[in-house]
Amino acid sequence: MQISWAARTDPGLRRSRNEDSYRAKPEVGLFVVADGMGGHVGGEVASELAVTEIQKLVESTGELGPLDTWPVPFDQSLSQDGNRLRAGFDNANRKIAQHMERAENLRGMATTAVAVLVDGVQAALAHVGDSRAYLYRADQLTRLTSDHSWVEEQMRAGMLTEAAAREHPWRNIVTKALSGSGDLQVDVAEVELQPGDRLLLCSDGLSSVLNDSEIGDIMAANHDLQEGCDELVNQANAAGGPDNVTTLLLQVATAAGS
Ligand code: CA
Repeated sequence: MQISWAARTDPGLRRSRNEDSYRAKPEVGLFVVADGMGGHVGGEVASELAVTEIQKLVESTGELGPLDTWPVPFDQSLSQDGNRLRAGFDNANRKIAQHMERAENLRGMATTAVAVLVDGVQAALAHVGDSRAYLYRADQLTRLTSDHSWVEEQMRAGMLTEAAAREHPWRNIVTKALSGSGDLQVDVAEVELQPGDRLLLCSDGLSSVLNDSEIGDIMAANHDLQEGCDELVNQANAAGGPDNVTTLLLQVATAAGS
């Protein structure tokens, strides 16, 4: 299995710090984007902890079977890789709690995270918060994640249109995050990949300024993964660059060589 990937992270035009983090470990099939929140250095610490702890857990469980001892209860309804990601998110959440206990200036920090773990044509996908995963297949962009955000909940309830959500003063409010609290809920899904598929992981610095059709157009015009990441970031900044923006694109080469 060969995975090609590219990424770009950028502070945007209105923020001095970049609280987003990403991690790419193609040798184990893991890719993560996290978007930190919290005053002072908290946001940066939280997103960095998330990508690091998810990576550690995934790397330490590659050989585990369902009957082995897992760091968290094994969920029979999920694949092995789905369990590995969920355990990674749990681990990150616990580490964030521990850091907040030790350091006053980190209290209140939190982070979103979206992660994909690829094994051949199977991909496990996990997310918490409003960082997103998209699938680009046969010139069509499909969103694979549903934001844990206040505006998304209002849209689902029919109370807000997408256009209104985009302008809403509460558009940045996430309803779930890795925040160190004890009731973490992680959305886990499984995706079967096809030749030529591309996956995009991104922080809301991209999706808050570009809609899905604009993102799809940029993907269509940029087949090179690095050029795609760069152009997505450039267009987010051209649209005002209000937030840190991170884009990570990956593509799995198949036996057929596509
Ligand atoms: Ca953000």
